[in-house]
Amino acid sequence: MEKADTPLEEVRGRIARACKPARREPEEITLIAVSKTHPAEAILPLLEQGQRVFGENRVQEAQAKWPALRTRFPDVELHLIGQLQSNKAEDAVALFDCIHALDRPSLVKALASAMNKLGKRVPCFAQVNVGEEEQKGGCSIADLSALLAQSREAGIPVAGLMCIPPAGMEPAPFFALLAKLAADNGLLGLSMGMSGDYETAVMLGATHVRVGTALFGERPAQT
Ligand SMILES: *Cc1c(COP(=O)(O)O)cnc(C)c1O
Repeated sequence: MEKADTPLEEVRGRIARACKPARREPEEITLIAVSKTHPAEAILPLLEQGQRVFGENRVQEAQAKWPALRTRFPDVELHLIGQLQSNKAEDAVALFDCIHALDRPSLVKALASAMNKLGKRVPCFAQVNVGEEEQKGGCSIADLSALLAQSREAGIPVAGLMCIPPAGMEPAPFFALLAKLAADNGLLGLSMGMSGDYETAVMLGATHVRVGTALFGERPAQT
């Protein structure tokens, strides 16, 4: 009997297949394995299969899990994908290689001063509230240009834009919108697509997909 694909092989295969109609190469897409809530024992098999880019949404949880794993796998790249409180900016800059949560002027200030203090420039994605949802994090479309200008002036390397489309809606129009906003602002990075919609995101230009459940299985509800 043929050996079944691991979840990692399955996701990589799907990314490669989604690239074809879009005439893209799989190497253009960074798969971020979202390991939030999962313990080191669940992360190790992916590391052993060669996955090196991981996403966490809580600074404290990442601080508890990753330093030990990183001593064994020093080339791990860690992305912060969740909302970030300004008072955690310094810890985030110290630990992470990329931050996908830039969404308001106060956070730009906090991250810039943390980067200056630690002498470390961490690339950031600006999160855009593409569905204009009141309860959701992310910068409004109207405020985006100003936020990007402020970030550049403050010396924050802006890698691109990130979004989470509204739940229960067809995501494609929101991915297309994010791609247009990035192009309008001269940005190349597009962090979009999760377990349910990463293939669509790849077809619409994602450079970074953030996949948790499809790699690790269901998560316990976060409190
Ligand atoms: C949890 C999370 C993901 C991963 O979601 P899945 O549906 O499990 O793939 C992606 N992006 C963000 C911002 C998240 O918080």
